[in-house]
Amino acid sequence: MQVRAIHLKLGRLSGVVKEALLFSYEVACEGTPLQGSRLCIEEIPVTVYCPACDAERALASIQHFRCPICDTPTPQIMQGKELEVAALEIEG
Ligand SMILES: [Zn+2]
Repeated sequence: MQVRAIHLKLGRLSGVVKEALLFSYEVACEGTPLQGSRLCIEEIPVTVYCPACDAERALASIQHFRCPICDTPTPQIMQGKELEVAALEIEG
């Protein structure tokens, strides 16, 4: 059995840099069943819940946790912290 690809969801707030992950992936997989597989990273934007709009909004900048529409400060993160495997492609 050979793993062909791993699909990863990576949030902008996960603390992991996509380029660094891609760079180290190949080395980390050497000598494991993952050797030769591809790493496909889907970057997840940061969204917050705005109580004033009663809606989920995408943040314009992760420096400012405010609703981009009405400028209400909101600390309630809905997504953007993901670091999870979404799918595996397996051959065999
Ligand atoms: Zn708002």
